[in-house]
Amino acid sequence: MSEKVFELSIPADDEGYIAFECPYCGIRFKLKAEEFKASSIIDLYCPACGLVNQINSFYTREVIEKAEEIAMNHAIDMINKMFKDLERSTRSNKFIKFKSNSIKKEYGKELYENVDELEITELNCCSKTVKVRLLDKYIGVYCPYCGGR
Ligand SMILES: [Zn+2]
Ligand SMILES: [Zn+2]
Repeated sequence: MSEKVFELSIPADDEGYIAFECPYCGIRFKLKAEEFKASSIIDLYCPACGLVNQINSFYTREVIEKAEEIAMNHAIDMINKMFKDLERSTRSNKFIKFKSNSIKKEYGKELYENVDELEITELNCCSKTVKVRLLDKYIGVYCPYCGGR
């Protein structure tokens, strides 16, 4: 079976920032979508605790749930199609009668990113910006792109 790639676009807020969540300390921060896309980084540093991990471990709960929903609905589509095909192929058979009931797909709420209390902070090392809590901005942040402080 071929591998299926799912497209999931993470919504940006009004200022063009997308949310991330640190897998270690759980804080939320935001990176500017265009800066993030242009950087082509593989790993991300948490601005608060400074620990590094792959970008996909920094996705927020909502994004992960949405991705699971898309994958699940795709699997349901495939199962429904399989049973429909089976039903069709046994239609002319006198001995086997097969009737399928489609499984219903689940739809959660659409992803959206709302206004937040986060503060835009300049990252001089990489000439980029990050949005963090005011407290983190005050203490000083690690650069999510290079880990510098
Ligand atoms: Zn952290
Ligand atoms: Zn940097």
